[in-house]
Amino acid sequence: MPDIIKLLPDSVANQIAAGEVIQRPASLIKELIENSVDARSKTIKIIIKDAGRTLVQITDDGAGMSETDARLCFERHATSKISSAEELFSIQTKGFRGEALASIAAVAMVELKTRKEGEEIGTLIKINGSKVEMQEAVSCPKGTNIAVKNLFFNVPARRKFLKSEATELRHIINEFQRIAIAHPGISFIFISNEKELFNLNPSNLMQRLMGIFGKNINVSLVNINTESSLIRISGFIGKPEHARKTFGEQYFFVNYRYMRHPYFHKAVMEAFENVLQPDSIPSYFIFLEADPATIDVNIHPTKTEIKFENERMIWQIIHASVREAIGKFNISPSIDFDREGLIEIPPPGKGIIGMPDYEINPYYNPFSEDDKYQRPTISFDAEKRDRLENWDKLLAGIESTPGPDQKEAGLGQDESEQSHKRITRLIQIKGKFILCPVKSGLMVVDQKRAHERILFEKFLEALTKGTSVSQKSLFPRSLELSQADIALLSEIEDDLKNVGFDISYLGNNTVSINGYPADSGNDDPVQMFEILLEDYKSTRKDISLEPRERLARSMARAGAIPYGRQLSEEEMRDLFDTLFACKTPNYSAAGKPVVNIITTEEFDKRLK
Ligand code: ADP
Ligand code: MG
Repeated sequence: MPDIIKLLPDSVANQIAAGEVIQRPASLIKELIENSVDARSKTIKIIIKDAGRTLVQITDDGAGMSETDARLCFERHATSKISSAEELFSIQTKGFRGEALASIAAVAMVELKTRKEGEEIGTLIKINGSKVEMQEAVSCPKGTNIAVKNLFFNVPARRKFLKSEATELRHIINEFQRIAIAHPGISFIFISNEKELFNLNPSNLMQRLMGIFGKNINVSLVNINTESSLIRISGFIGKPEHARKTFGEQYFFVNYRYMRHPYFHKAVMEAFENVLQPDSIPSYFIFLEADPATIDVNIHPTKTEIKFENERMIWQIIHASVREAIGKFNISPSIDFDREGLIEIPPPGKGIIGMPDYEINPYYNPFSEDDKYQRPTISFDAEKRDRLENWDKLLAGIESTPGPDQKEAGLGQDESEQSHKRITRLIQIKGKFILCPVKSGLMVVDQKRAHERILFEKFLEALTKGTSVSQKSLFPRSLELSQADIALLSEIEDDLKNVGFDISYLGNNTVSINGYPADSGNDDPVQMFEILLEDYKSTRKDISLEPRERLARSMARAGAIPYGRQLSEEEMRDLFDTLFACKTPNYSAAGKPVVNIITTEEFDKRLK
């Protein structure tokens, strides 16, 4: 019997192998730009035609290649980046398998011009489907210029599988952006069908992101930065309110190489828990730097997933540093209070020289319901009083509570203590929003959501630590529940006790509420309990929440100050103080915004 095994010719073997590395024009972009980055280029220019089918050309000003290297680089496993197996574990460059150029040359027509620094003359090589067509000396700038034409010209089946131009271009741009973000110090020019799509100057990361995604991204990101012996984390995360419903701007880089990492992605998502609208995904640009020896480099070139030695620990570190960054951002409104927005109240009754005259409402009595006593007028001169009256008209229909500044202007106050104090006036409108002047404009706080956030954090802590205060109901209230609710109640009974509910069973599906959590804004314990049960039941399907978080959330909703409740200045102030002492004041437990600032620019626009 004749032998039947034959060795495939190199060109065929290369074509088969190329299929793994070069799947579509975007793979060319990735491999070629990475080579230019590895060659320490400062400027990389990319020109494509017809989404890379007709032409992908990359010009760089990097190290360039000698005549021999220019010929060798198209051989399979020809690489300058490692020379021994050990080096695999300290690899810092993008490539090292020496497969890309061999694969590209197997399935396209390639023209390479390159000159090494210090050499007078460069090399031009043309190679079609692995076959060298010509090689000659050429004069060219330092660096490498590689043009890949007619991709898959000799593999019609693959060419047929290319998607529409728009789809291929999207893939190309994705690959391009990943590299451009990872290397903000390199300048990139990107031209598609003669149109310049990107022209990115060397810059820092934020400027690079602005160059790619538009200037507005600036306001939607916060810095993240953590250093540990295991890993260094830097970059940006998106503010929760800018999160979108679709995947898009989620980028992980490890040692300046883009990677996909579903497990670490979860760490980020979990850190955002309770501050996001349901189903939305925050953007992030997170750079991890780790010792290459702790990363599995033995991955396929087209695979973007990477294995780490200490995945669980790194997960924790990512989670913590994202949380910290969210927290940092959330604190900012509280330190944003505007000095300009503060009203200085002159000490009443003292004739300080140069102090303008002012009048006070002598009838003012903060404890009186009568309108006459509720509206202290403070005016510094007649003209101002006129304006104040006009203001009064303008403000008609808006309920406002007398501020302490007004109280100070009243009688019977301790002058020495109260006078000359700077106070920000808080205004409640429609029993729903509290307004406060801040540096950048006017801050609006949703009173119910604010209280929900405060209670949520408080209850969550109480549930974990079992430290809460109960207030006794003056008259224990009984209420009849369904069989199902009784069953549910027995499930969460212990937790309810932990947050301050005191409930006893009276038999016949009836329970008595003897005490309820202190600090509740809802002073009807029965109503509170009913809302709690309903809410808890309705979120049952939400498996993304831990049971305790779910309970804390329902408790917070049930116990929050309802809309329509008039708050005193002191209550509002209290609410503000506690809110901004929260870990995540900007979002309610359900992820709805609590705080918003209407900027002075917006006012300017409206009043133009
Ligand atoms: P790898 O990048 O894995 O080493 P490639 O096939 O992509 O393999 O490239 C082979 C070799 O060609 C590289 O190791 C490098 O020495 C050289 N090379 C490729 N592109 C460039 C470039 N733009 N500038 C300088 N040298 C390059
Ligand atoms: Mg390479």
